[in-house]
Amino acid sequence: MPELPEVETVRRGLAHLLTGFTFRSAQDLHPRLLKPASLAPLSTVIGARITGINRRGKFLWFELNREHALVAHLGMSGQFLIAQKDRPAPGHVRAHFRLTRGLNTREVAFSDQRTFGWLSIEQLTHGIPQSALHIAIDPFDPQFDRTAVITQMKSRKAAIKSVILNQEIMSGVGNIYADESLWRAKIHPETPACDLSTRKIGSLIDAATAVMAEAIKAGGTSFDSLYINVNGESGFFETSLAAYGQEHQPCPRCGREIRRIAFGGRSSHFCPKCQVK
Ligand SMILES: [Zn+2]
Repeated sequence: MPELPEVETVRRGLAHLLTGFTFRSAQDLHPRLLKPASLAPLSTVIGARITGINRRGKFLWFELNREHALVAHLGMSGQFLIAQKDRPAPGHVRAHFRLTRGLNTREVAFSDQRTFGWLSIEQLTHGIPQSALHIAIDPFDPQFDRTAVITQMKSRKAAIKSVILNQEIMSGVGNIYADESLWRAKIHPETPACDLSTRKIGSLIDAATAVMAEAIKAGGTSFDSLYINVNGESGFFETSLAAYGQEHQPCPRCGREIRRIAFGGRSSHFCPKCQVK
């Protein structure tokens, strides 16, 4: 499932390739493509120029020279693909767009094998679309208030892992980056957030930001091929994970075996020596 770094990689790719282009056609090819709350059919974007691509958490939107925006959520498997002449057409295409800027034309497909992704036409409130209004600011946003987020996290009695996954306190951290940042900050995932010091929570936020920044950097060049792979298969996951998915592997810091425990329907990976409750 794409997490924030992959969505940010897609945002950068789309911004690089599509800013300044105008929609000339927009085809809705699947009954569940548009969110039911969409204000208008997909064809509403025809004639609109893309002025930028924005993101909050895992919500992406195309800013248009209109009052509304085209919002996209990639769900589990959504991808934006820019067609190339000698490449075969992708499968599972749910929407197709043709855009132009001067003499340049781009064909863009929104492909989604599992159909949990969606598009919608939405109004912006203070620059944010309706469906992303409940999502808190992520640490890459210039408006991110680190001190306020630490205070909010420290007020919670829940396990720190569920607090750092709570998208209404700080957005962006999914299961992979939660395990990695808890490992880096040497915090046991089940520690109640209120038992951690302000400094320790601060170090966790910094670790989460650093690990996601590394993943963005690793995925940040993949759009040069004009073939944007939303799953961010950049090699970051194979080479850089210390804890997530590393059950029975030695901890890169101390050599003890990484353990996996059940955590709310998913799992947590941690080092029992470096991360004690
Ligand atoms: Zn360790």
